[in-house]
Amino acid sequence: MFASLPDKPDHPALERQLLEWWQAEGIFDRLRAQNSGGPKWSFIDGPITANNPMGVHHIWGRTYKDLFQRYKALRGFDQRYQNGFDSQGLWVEVEVEKALGLGSKRDIEEYGIAEFAARCKERVAHYAGVWTEQSSRLGQWMDWDNSYLTFSDTNIEYIWRFLKTVHERGWLYKGHRSTQWCPRCGTSLSQHEQTGDDKYVELVHPSLYVRFPLAEREGESLVIWTTTPWTLPANVAAAVRPDAEYVLTPEGEWWAKERKGERVATETKNGSELVGWRYRGPFDDAPALEGIEHRVIPWDDVSLDEGSGVVHIAPGAGTEDFELSRMHDLPVLVPVNESGRFLPEFGFVGLTTEEARDPIIAALREHDLLVEAGEITHRYPICWRCATPLIFRVVDDWFISAQEIRQPMMEANATVEWTPSFYSKRMDDWLRNMGDWNISRKRYFGLPLPFYPCECGTLNVVGSRAELEQRATAGLDQLQELHRPWIDAVSISCDSCGKEVRRIPEVGDAWLDAGIVPFSTLGWENPKWVEHGYANGASTGLSGADLPDHVYWEEWFPADWVSESREQIRLWFYSQCFMSVTLVGRSPYRAVLAYERVRDETGREMHKSWGNAIEANEAFERMGADVIRFLYCEQIPSQNVNFGYGPADEVKRRLLRFWNCVKFFVDYANVVKFEPGASPVGELKMLDRWLLARTDQLVVEMTEAYERFWTPALIRAFESFVDDLSNWYIRRSRRRFWDGDAAALSILLHALVRSVQVVAPVMPFLAEHVWRVLRADDAPASVFLAGWPETGDRDDALLAEVAAVRQVVELGRQARSTSGLKLRQPLRRMVVQGAGAAAAHAEEIRDELRVKDVEFGEVEAMEVRVKPNLPVLGPKLGKELGPVRAALAAGAFEQLAGGGIRVDGHELGANEVLVERTAREGWALAEEDGVTVAMSTELDDELLLEGRVLDLIHRVNTMRKDAGLALTDRITLTLPEEDADLLQHEQWIKDEVLATEIRTDRVAEPQVAKT
Ligand SMILES: [Zn+2]
Ligand SMILES: [Zn+2]
Repeated sequence: MFASLPDKPDHPALERQLLEWWQAEGIFDRLRAQNSGGPKWSFIDGPITANNPMGVHHIWGRTYKDLFQRYKALRGFDQRYQNGFDSQGLWVEVEVEKALGLGSKRDIEEYGIAEFAARCKERVAHYAGVWTEQSSRLGQWMDWDNSYLTFSDTNIEYIWRFLKTVHERGWLYKGHRSTQWCPRCGTSLSQHEQTGDDKYVELVHPSLYVRFPLAEREGESLVIWTTTPWTLPANVAAAVRPDAEYVLTPEGEWWAKERKGERVATETKNGSELVGWRYRGPFDDAPALEGIEHRVIPWDDVSLDEGSGVVHIAPGAGTEDFELSRMHDLPVLVPVNESGRFLPEFGFVGLTTEEARDPIIAALREHDLLVEAGEITHRYPICWRCATPLIFRVVDDWFISAQEIRQPMMEANATVEWTPSFYSKRMDDWLRNMGDWNISRKRYFGLPLPFYPCECGTLNVVGSRAELEQRATAGLDQLQELHRPWIDAVSISCDSCGKEVRRIPEVGDAWLDAGIVPFSTLGWENPKWVEHGYANGASTGLSGADLPDHVYWEEWFPADWVSESREQIRLWFYSQCFMSVTLVGRSPYRAVLAYERVRDETGREMHKSWGNAIEANEAFERMGADVIRFLYCEQIPSQNVNFGYGPADEVKRRLLRFWNCVKFFVDYANVVKFEPGASPVGELKMLDRWLLARTDQLVVEMTEAYERFWTPALIRAFESFVDDLSNWYIRRSRRRFWDGDAAALSILLHALVRSVQVVAPVMPFLAEHVWRVLRADDAPASVFLAGWPETGDRDDALLAEVAAVRQVVELGRQARSTSGLKLRQPLRRMVVQGAGAAAAHAEEIRDELRVKDVEFGEVEAMEVRVKPNLPVLGPKLGKELGPVRAALAAGAFEQLAGGGIRVDGHELGANEVLVERTAREGWALAEEDGVTVAMSTELDDELLLEGRVLDLIHRVNTMRKDAGLALTDRITLTLPEEDADLLQHEQWIKDEVLATEIRTDRVAEPQVAKT
């Protein structure tokens, strides 16, 4: 007996049970043992930030990762299953600051860097636990005890080694640059962090026109425009466009002519004539401005589309300004400190750039320098981590030059197979345009940059802990891990002069941490295997991961496949590629699957504050993990997915069709006590042979879809198979199941078992459950231990025939429904044109469409009307249009292959005419892809009577079901007397409703009684 099934599955309950069962039976361990020593398939997990609980948007990627690992496991591949957690850097720091109520870097320092590091570590440890639990709930099979955490000393040492290498190549440099700066985080940010639409918001800023009085032209001023008043105290120059004309207004103001208009001019000059003029700055009284001479400089990029055509230049507070300072040898004044607060020597002391706005405007007004003050709304960059509006500061940062590596990286990318394929070009675009990599952050809990500059001019870069220990002059004894503050206490001796040198305070960009993973976790160039050797430093106790040896690295590098969201092109895909090409000259991955973003079910972004975000746990318990996985798999990865309870309910409804097939089998198999494999299969009918071929076809289609990492094709193949199974095989074989036909039962069982095997990676729980219900006693306990099904020779001709039959039947149904003829009304005749492969199956078509006679041939019941497509044909035919039109209207035309028409001596293409096909009186038509079906709609008394019989059968069977009768129960049927004429078909009715007797009586409705 098969375990009987409820009407619908309770996904979350079933999933919880299976998680327990997998655990108790050690199924995952058995799978790994079974595949151990098999061919290798290397997946490298991109580290997820262990910082907050999982959201449903994280599940998309996790679904892919688990799905393809499960598929490869079913194919017998040996795999590593190592999960990764990103565990240091700005994102962890910002969350810990929030939790502790720390608002600035000074607060952190007062709190204590060691204490702060401890809190960061605790947060990572906590959320690594949460993620492990939530990922397991999704069904993700990973070696959770051996996750890697990027803050381990091993990971840090591998990055040091990389940095030493780039230094040896001459790519490492300290840049004095204007960079985007977050005043809250107190650090600069790099190009790859700040790319993307969500890094900008609409903000309202002041729009000021300000006078700069000219030194040598009494009563005249330049007028400049700015939206950042806080930069005015750092002004040193004003730029004009040399080839533009400037006018002097009667008020004594110089503007670009294009901005002010000619008629106000009392004098006109070329921009080049203004160059060299000196002016008084608006805040020249401040100590920082002492001795600064302001002058007009030329700049070809001055915009004449906005502002005044004169640009205020503050090299310490803007990127282009800074570049101009180099060309024109201008002083660089940085007016604000790390927190974006004014430095004392600029006035406005202690105010933020925001807070200084009104005092600055008031001061300008007081000195009669303000021409006009308004507001402007514009897109403005914000910090990717804390959403604070950014400013520009000129600071010293550390960079890796991208110039030499750019071409080799592009060559490496050319070897990668991207899915979807056009992402390859996105990566190329990024590589082509990438600037130098800004790797330093002025922060605390991150990779300590191992840079020890010496006043002799040597930059000492330490490449390993061993080297640090060997060169240390002090501080080693307290070095508990390679993090601040402990690392800061270690000094070393300079390579060149032997002087004691100290580390710079900066930490590294978190993408260094993630990018090194294909080396640090696989033991690149490590001479011998160290047990638990990866999990050291901050990750001690959080993981048991080993540090493998170089042989292992050679076996598992590069990754056969990686998968992350598309934005990782400029982040993890980029940083890994950069580091890998630097260290070993090749791409660290062979294939990539990338995907877009998760939106809510109406297509809006999800935000906690908007109330439309869905927590992963809530989704697991309300939708079920399988349903979520199915929903993500169906999605085209290059498009945003709309996620929510509505779409999930729709998936559940669709999965029910498969469930119903399984339940149908179980119910009928149990009625006849069918034993799989025990009874002889019996003689196969055509339909059985078709289902065998169709099942093989499913296996082949699914295999192909998995092999090309294209999940939408998995869902399409599976659902089309379920449709064939349910709406063709089962429905067409219903009577055989009633009779307990062993062949039908065993073929159906085979089809169901195969389908759960191939769909198991998509929805592991439902598949496992069904496997356990259906599996033979000698089959493996879990579908995941059963391997991948083999396929044999397939009867493709039969598949094509049945596909044609199904198309004809579908068109027949459409034709009926356009004429309002329900399927239970038998019809006399139909004609099929263009589906020759279906001709051998006329019997089935007759049966399906309830039509007495099926003919294959030309459909004559069709009228074709052709009209000229006037916008196209009018210009082409000119005055000949009239006669052509008349000939078409009269039906004097000939149809050509390909949809064209010959008329009145012209051959017209399919796009030049509008063809309408309509049915003649008494016929209903439907057509698609060259197949046309015509159904006769005329009804006679015999057909009408049969229609009533079928209505009755349907009704009685519904009553049987509602009365809770078993499939085999026999009944007595009582009909109203006025339905006595239906008894002309007494035997037919008896057979269909399992009635032993039918009588008539004075009842209003049919009555059913169990005998
Ligand atoms: Zn910030
Ligand atoms: Zn030195």
